[in-house]
Amino acid sequence: MTSILEVNNLTKTYDQFSLDRLSFSLQKGCITGFIGVNGAGKTTTIKSILGLINPEAGSIRFDGMEMNRQEKQIKNRIGFVLDEGYFYGMLTVKEMKNVIAPAYSSWDEQTFSNWIGRFGLNPNQKIASLSTGMRMKFAVALALSHHADLLIMDEPTSGLDPMMRSELMAILLDFMKEEGKSVFFSTHITSDLDKVADMLILIDGGKILLNEEKDTLLDNHARIKGDSRWINERTRPLFLTLRETPYGFEGLTHQKEALRQEMPDAVFERPTIEDIMLAYVGGAEIAH
Ligand code: ATP
Repeated sequence: MTSILEVNNLTKTYDQFSLDRLSFSLQKGCITGFIGVNGAGKTTTIKSILGLINPEAGSIRFDGMEMNRQEKQIKNRIGFVLDEGYFYGMLTVKEMKNVIAPAYSSWDEQTFSNWIGRFGLNPNQKIASLSTGMRMKFAVALALSHHADLLIMDEPTSGLDPMMRSELMAILLDFMKEEGKSVFFSTHITSDLDKVADMLILIDGGKILLNEEKDTLLDNHARIKGDSRWINERTRPLFLTLRETPYGFEGLTHQKEALRQEMPDAVFERPTIEDIMLAYVGGAEIAH
């Protein structure tokens, strides 16, 4: 697989937080979920990639081009949706579009009109009076109207109802139908990614803890339930998290074959992305 975006040694320091020499790449033709709890560093990473904040160190390459040399060409090919408003509330949808469109040499007015129509957005409505969902749709319409190859979305689903969230997922899958398109999508609502993500990157405390294909990650872990008497000094270290109650235990492991031999009668279930995220960021009770 070829990469569309490569991030190398990205470093950004705040008083109480730093992105610590972050390196990862996004594969062409993939939806990559960027997951992590509140404050993990997702927005800081995305803003650094987009040049909205200045990192102290690091380089960004897009499709073989260096961001600090060919920023204009690269920005033309990236559509972005951020979680906080970067629109002027007093402008109408159409006026705001007129501010943003000239930034893109490949702006496509017809495509924008189609999206506005599909989303039922009124071009003359003031941005300030749009609901959260409509505002997100407006941001998506802008991001998809200049033939971007990479869509970067920061928490696009936070504040959306389940119907709107599933509509957004359908739009992403539609976008991916065209060859060579890619999506980078940050969220702490991991259930959104269950169906759509190909790759997952987990960030915590400014560091990347996991970067793997979603299916491989889910296949390599298991949620296990069973009798507490099966927990001993041999089996306990095989769990990432373990919760014991008077009725039994429940835990998450990445050594499921070893545990299957140790406790053949235990119940092995496929974990969710959330189970895995919480295990790695230490949100659950740790076994050892
Ligand atoms: P969330 O899911 O809550 O949006 P996040 O993973 O996007 O979280 P960031 O917004 O990247 O997290 O924030 C990472 C850390 O950096 C947080 O502790 C935050 O308080 C801190 N931080 C972000 N921006 C600044 C700033 N301008 N000045 C100081 N600290 C900041």
